[in-house]
Amino acid sequence: MHRYPTIETIAAIATPPGAGGIGIIRVSGPRALPVLKELFHPWDAACPFASHHFYYGHVYRPDNGRLVDEVLAVYMAGPHSYTREDVVEIHCHGSFLVLENVLELLLALGVRLATPGEFTKRAFLNGRIDLTQAEAVVDILAARTRKGVDLAQEQLSGALHRVIEPIRQSLVAMRARVEVAIDFPDEDVEIARPVEMLERMNQEVVQPLQRLIASADQGRLYRDGLAIVIAGLPNVGKSSLLNTILQEDRALVTPIPGTTRDSIEEVVDIGGIPVRIIDTAGIREEAGDVEALGIARARELINKADLILFLIDGTRPLGEEDRQIFYQVRHKPLLPVINKIDLCVGGSIPDLALLGEIDSWVTVSALQQTGIDQLKEAIVKRVTAGRGQWQEEGCAPNFRHKRALLAAEAGARRAMDSLCDGLSSDLLAVDLQECLDCLAEIVGETTNEEILDAVFSQFCLGK
Ligand code: GDP
Repeated sequence: MHRYPTIETIAAIATPPGAGGIGIIRVSGPRALPVLKELFHPWDAACPFASHHFYYGHVYRPDNGRLVDEVLAVYMAGPHSYTREDVVEIHCHGSFLVLENVLELLLALGVRLATPGEFTKRAFLNGRIDLTQAEAVVDILAARTRKGVDLAQEQLSGALHRVIEPIRQSLVAMRARVEVAIDFPDEDVEIARPVEMLERMNQEVVQPLQRLIASADQGRLYRDGLAIVIAGLPNVGKSSLLNTILQEDRALVTPIPGTTRDSIEEVVDIGGIPVRIIDTAGIREEAGDVEALGIARARELINKADLILFLIDGTRPLGEEDRQIFYQVRHKPLLPVINKIDLCVGGSIPDLALLGEIDSWVTVSALQQTGIDQLKEAIVKRVTAGRGQWQEEGCAPNFRHKRALLAAEAGARRAMDSLCDGLSSDLLAVDLQECLDCLAEIVGETTNEEILDAVFSQFCLGK
């Protein structure tokens, strides 16, 4: 396993910028405790700095003895720490200026400012977590729904590793057999029974790999989310529907940075999927006089959308204008939604057959907020269809994992072909090893510096 090549002590502000109840500075490395002792004056002069104990005291400037802050400090002796190194946390008042002051004092003592993700990178390099778990930390920080957090927590607890490990063990066992066959070609070892080995390859390697690959598509859905555009004629209730969906989920809604609630685009949790809902009506209004610009932008959004909610006014029969909009969006995955059902006398709704073959739709009242749960269910059903069920519960491989899994599967298939064709054991051993290498890459055992940089550059400072 890797060992971290340097013994530099690093530090960073671990809490987000801005004012808060507390702000935390994290220090990791062999000098973590010595530098703490230089800056921190415990209230109890006999403070033993026992590991994993909080101590109350003050931070003073070493040069002029001026008070910087009243703090709590904790020392966590390696290897029982986030990085497996000696770690110190200084819990200050949550002012960015105070935190900066403390950080500068640490830097003046020769501690280096940590790069983004460096604490987690050390945890990985020191063998506390594998690469999938390091990635899970990024996912936890970036998750926009509770389900997203749950999935990331599963991965942090090693879910992917646990599924991959038996596949690797099978491959290792099979490779060992093949090697025996190479070393002792005259012995009657199991490689002489290729049918049995083919069966094992299929059951223990190819099928589990396929299940994981299938899960990646679901994982992407819950991690990256999707975009839904509400399209329809003016006044059918697009803005009302957007507002109704947002209101219902206000507690879970995470606005995209820089946007506000009355913007045309919001992220909402629908069945655990972070969904960007875009109301095309807003685009036109925003464009004001430049209507054409608004329409061009609406088209662009429609083309990028994963699903279109084609909104229809249930109180009127379908008209030519509805059809025109429909023709503009029908190349996309589409869910017709009939609105204003509260006004539909006797529940009669427009005849959707005029649009061609429409086999399912949802009826809602954006105003009275009815049918919204059914709409959400229909959305989830629609976007998860074709992605298959969760194949490996709790496992949501990301794009990097998926690529390696596909390469592993290709290696396994080549090995099976070699077996079928009765090719030499040497070739078989190469295929098995390639498959093993791909799996090792996923957990980070053989990952190169470029991949590591790509993974850890996604982190924020102090993590
Ligand atoms: P947009 O132009 O498509 O965004 O439509 P709006 O959301 O602005 O709605 C147009 C009008 O229809 C407003 O007066 C809404 O109050 C009304 N409206 C929207 N949804 C419903 C509904 O479900 N029932 C009823 N009765 N009126 C609705």
